[in-house]
Amino acid sequence: RTVYVNGAYLPESEASVSIFDRGFLMADAIYEVTSVLDGRLVDFDAHMTRLARSARELDMAPPPGRDELLAIHRELVRRNGIDEGLVYLQVTRGAPGDRDFAYPDPGLAPTVVLFTQAKPGLADDPVARRGIRVISLDDLRWKRRDIKTVQLLYPSMAKMAARRAGADDAWLVEDGFVTEGTSNNVYIVSNGRIITRPLSCEILHGITRRSVLRCAAEAGMAVEERAFTLAEAKAAQEAFLTSASAFVIPVVAVDGVVLGDGRPGPVAARLRDICLEEARAGAI
Ligand code: PLP
Repeated sequence: RTVYVNGAYLPESEASVSIFDRGFLMADAIYEVTSVLDGRLVDFDAHMTRLARSARELDMAPPPGRDELLAIHRELVRRNGIDEGLVYLQVTRGAPGDRDFAYPDPGLAPTVVLFTQAKPGLADDPVARRGIRVISLDDLRWKRRDIKTVQLLYPSMAKMAARRAGADDAWLVEDGFVTEGTSNNVYIVSNGRIITRPLSCEILHGITRRSVLRCAAEAGMAVEERAFTLAEAKAAQEAFLTSASAFVIPVVAVDGVVLGDGRPGPVAARLRDICLEEARAGAI
């Protein structure tokens, strides 16, 4: 696999970053994950706009511009022959000469790393036909989840707890209300309405969330942006989650409570189809 590090395309075995990189020492880094369908990038501009916002919120130097990043994404997709898959873009505050809590000189060059993951069958995922089971856990993450940082330890712990419990993922709960999944935005369907938490600092402003809500509106589906409780989720007709890497995935059980008839619901299935079609049509 060819990867990109600070201006160079290299075999992954030859790529490296400094041990003083703040991404490594401080989790002082932001990232984006863009999906690839038919060899083309889905929602690319929205991902780059969010990356620039993450950098601004953390007083990081602006990342490379959209055109340069598009060229690098495309080159890696080409070199690695990705038809369906993901492109990861990681930007850290850079590698000062030593460890220090204070930010380094703003002139320090950021570390920019990109790599691809091939995911054949991304669009035709059997998990989407089967649905997943989630458990609930306290949301113990920091309070700026709107910034897409690499502080992914708690989501990793939550994912492992879900596996140990025989489930696929965890839904995180704060003050009785569901915030998000470990790496996705979450929705329930109740009385025929799609309910999802409104945007705030408590959740990531998902690019797929935005597309899915637009698709839902276009299809005449009723959407209510409000926080919902774990109890509401367990009583829902159906539930689902969204992310760039999964599109729309139905949730068929919450804490062992089976939703509906235990099979993916019609709203999630329809949204997945519409969303995938729009993603393909708009990919660049
Ligand atoms: N919420 C969290 C915590 C995430 O990590 C992600 C994606 O990685 C999402 C939501 C979904 O965002 P997007 O649709 O932009 O992938």
